[in-house]
Order: sequence, then structure tokens, then C-alpha cells
Amino acid sequence: MAILSLLFFSNLNNERILLKQARTLLNNTTAESLRHTTDFLQNAEKQANLTVSLIRSRVIIGNDFKSQENYLTSLLEHNTEIAGIYVADNLGNFFYSSRSVENTEALYRTKQITVDELSKTTNIWWRNENSEIINPQVIINEDFDPRTRPWYQLTSSQGSNIWTEPYVFYTTKKLGITTASPLARSSGEFWGAVGVDLEFTELAEFLSTLEISRYGSSFITTDDGTLIASPSLQERYKNDSKQNDLKLLTVLNSGDDLITKAYNAVFKTNATEFKDGSKEYLVEAMPLKLSGGRNWQIITYADKNEFLGEIRANENQKYIIAGVILLLSVLLGWLLTRKAWQPLGELEDSANYDQLTQLYNRRYLENNAKDLIDTAILQDQPLCVAILDIDNFKIINDTYGHAIGDKVIQIFANRLRNQNRPLDLVARLGGEEFVLIMPNTTLEVAKAHINNTRITMKDRAYKAKDYSLKVTFSAGIAKLDSENTSLTDILNNADKALYESKNSGRDIVSVA
Ligand code: GH3
Ligand code: MG
Ligand code: MG
Repeated sequence: MAILSLLFFSNLNNERILLKQARTLLNNTTAESLRHTTDFLQNAEKQANLTVSLIRSRVIIGNDFKSQENYLTSLLEHNTEIAGIYVADNLGNFFYSSRSVENTEALYRTKQITVDELSKTTNIWWRNENSEIINPQVIINEDFDPRTRPWYQLTSSQGSNIWTEPYVFYTTKKLGITTASPLARSSGEFWGAVGVDLEFTELAEFLSTLEISRYGSSFITTDDGTLIASPSLQERYKNDSKQNDLKLLTVLNSGDDLITKAYNAVFKTNATEFKDGSKEYLVEAMPLKLSGGRNWQIITYADKNEFLGEIRANENQKYIIAGVILLLSVLLGWLLTRKAWQPLGELEDSANYDQLTQLYNRRYLENNAKDLIDTAILQDQPLCVAILDIDNFKIINDTYGHAIGDKVIQIFANRLRNQNRPLDLVARLGGEEFVLIMPNTTLEVAKAHINNTRITMKDRAYKAKDYSLKVTFSAGIAKLDSENTSLTDILNNADKALYESKNSGRDIVSVA
């Protein structure tokens, strides 16, 4: 109870506090998305920068095409989110390795453009997993000029790292973004660029893996509302890219109401909540700052009730745990007391029962006989007491030993118990003497019953060890009457009757 009440009073949460908690959670979620996305994008940027410094330090030399290809494909191998990486110079030379999209036998595709005064030669080849060249092609005076591409123009004009707006990649026709890093001489003069492509599907897939095990959904937009990545649009972008008619999705034409409403809430109405039908959502935006001055937004939204429900469920869980602890401690307590009381219970048993025969003992007989007698007197009912004594038992002991004697007493007691009528009380008085208290029984009926028992039992053999013995018993019966109202009195009379039975030759039932 203490645990429960403590929990109850420590958790008197009202909606306001819950909402505050929900806000904190949403804030954490957005911050987490931001951090992971930044890491994700920064890795691409890092690869571009690393390639630039390797070229500057002449580790990758411009005319050693084999080592350039090795380096670029191994970079793709280790950065599975990168679609392609390339180097271009201000003469229009180009070296580009990407994942193979069109050739399923191949892992990578490399395209090399070399320019001289007269012509431009494009070599394209693929490599399979054994690094063997597949399907090499040569194209003369191809249209493509890397210097016209957005990434090249941006990084050359800014002279620093940049990220492009989303656009359609020239070769794969896929939607994506590119980061580019400038190549400059020590004088600072720009002479080329290294670009790294990230496809939208990779970004969206990455965002959707973030969704697992946390609250809310995130999406990324540019300032003008172009969708960069959203788990809900991942499939759409994938399908669109198969159909070759790629359209950039915006928060307005995405067809996803929640994205539209979340964006409008944050940027049009400056709100922290929005409604969709009857559902209420919490929303939060954080800026994602990219190299080159681009500012995107990570927006996270979450179903308010689901959100609060989850927090409440957490609270409820505490109660459930407290309840379980409580139940367990009660159970444990019960088990402990049961164990603790068990010896006492056993003591009580041993106090009432005779060890050898498991019949009631003399103590129990004396304690309970009074109740039986009082009840009989009160209800004016007859009651008889019989003493049974095994005949010539000493001979059994002397002939076969004490242990066999014990066994005979045991078997005798069992049989006596089985002859027992439901209301009769059977006890071992001591030695080979037994007592029956027979409530609501007249002397005649008692005598008939004991006599029956005597006849039934005398013919049955007692098997102990290798011996098969037979024993008889003698009995004396006395009844409750106005002069004999105590157990002692009645037993005395029964004993006298027993004495008569013994004197008369044994195996006899006598009545006082
Ligand atoms: P009677 O027919 O006159 O009853 O002859 P008895 O031999 O049975 O004589 P009595 O009843 O006087 O003696 C009983 C003997 O039973 C005496 C004692 O040695 C033996 N006895 C008493 N209690 C036990 C017991 O628990 N186990 C065994 N094995 N013997 C017992
Ligand atoms: Mg005896
Ligand atoms: Mg005897």
C-alpha cells in the first residue's frame, strides 16, 4: 500500500504537465533527427573533402586513371549511402564512379571524359564483383559537360563546400542532392571540383529507420517547401524514379495532408499544434544548416493523444509494476508464514495423533470426549464407549519380536479405522488397547457393531516380514448414563466389561 500511495501522490499529473512532457519528447525526437541527418550529410561532405585533399597532395594523380577508379569505387564500397562520386576540372575533364544501375551483373560504373583541343572522348565501363571490366564503350563528343552542372557552378562561384538544391541526376535520372568541394591551387585559383551524390531514396530510408522506436514522424524540406526526404514519400520517389518522369514533391503537392498541415502550422501560422479531422498533432521544426549557406528544415509531428497516451501508459506501467510487487510480497509473506507455521502445524498433528498408528491418541480422546458426551446429554441421545484389547499380545511380542508386534498393532489400527462408522471416534489408548466412542449408539447396536468388527477381523491374516499371523481381540462396552457422565467413569465400566471378556476366554465382546 505504501508503494502504491507513494506512486499515486508522486504522479498527480494534470494535462498541462503531460503536455509539457510530450513537448520535451517531441523536441528530443526532432533534435535526434537533426543530429542524425547532419551526420548523414556530413559524411558525404567529408568524403568530398577527403578526395580533394588526396588530389591536392597528389596521392590521387590526375592521369593515373586506374588508381583513381580504385579509390572512388572503394569509397562507394565503404559508404553505401553514396550513389556516386566524381572529379571534374575547368577544361571539362571528368572522372565519375557510381553504383551500376542499368547493368545488374556489374557493381560499379565508371565514366571518364578526356578533353583535348580537337575532341572530347568519353569512355564508359562497368566492373563486376571480380573487378573485371564489362561492356566498355567509347563515345565521341558527348553532350555532357560537367561544368554546366549545378554542383560545379555553385562550388566554383562560392569557392567553398556547397550543397545543391534537389535535382535530377544526369545519368541515373534519379532525384537527389549533391555536395561539392572545390579544387584550388595554392594561389587560391579554382581549377575543378569533387562532387558526391546522395539519392533521395537513401535519405528517406535513413529517416524511416530513425522512426523506429521513437515518437512522431520527421520530414525535411527546403526553405521554399520542396520535400527532401520523408518516410511516407519513400515509396513514391522509388516508383517515380522507375517511371522516369520525376517530379520534385513539395509540401503542397505531396498528397500527404499531415506534411502540408505540419509545414503550414510552423511556417505560415507559427503554431506548435495543428488539427487533421478530429485528431490533434504537436509539431516542431528545427533548421538544418548546410555548407554553402543552405538552410533546410527538419519538421517533426506526432499525434497528440497517442503521444499523451504513451506517456500515460508509462505512468500506468508504474502502477502495474507496483501492483505486481505488492502481490509478490503478499505471496512471499504468505509462503514464508506458511513455512514458519508448518512445524507448529506438524507439532499440533503429532500432539493429536498416535505416531505408530496415526489414530487419535489418548490426549485427543480426553480433550474431545467431553464435547461428544455433552452433546449427547444435551440432545438426549445414547452414547457408548468400547475398549478393545488384543488378546495374548505379549506372546506375539515374545515370539516374533517387538518390531513385528508394532507391525501387528499398525495393521490392527488400519483395519479398525476401516470398520469405523463415520461418527465414531477411534483412538489408541496405549499399547494394544483401543477406544471407540460411538455417539448416538445404544448398547445393543454398539455390541452388534463391535462384535461384527471382531468377527471380520479375526479371520484376516497379519502379514509382517515372513510371518502370517492371526490375532483376536476382546472388548468391553459401557454406556453414558446419569451416573456415568465422564469419560473416566464410562471407560472404567468398559474396562470392567473387558476384564470379563478376558476372563471368559477372550475373543469376546462384553457389555457393562
Ligand atoms: P491379554 O490377552 O490379557 O490382553 O494378554 P496380553 O499379552 O495382550 O497382555 P497385556 O494386554 O497386559 O499386555 C500387552 C503387552 O503389549 C505388554 C507390552 O509389552 C506390549 N506392548 C505395549 N505397547 C506396545 C507397543 O507399542 N509395541 C509392541 N510391540 N508391544 C507393546
Ligand atoms: Mg493390554
Ligand atoms: Mg492384550
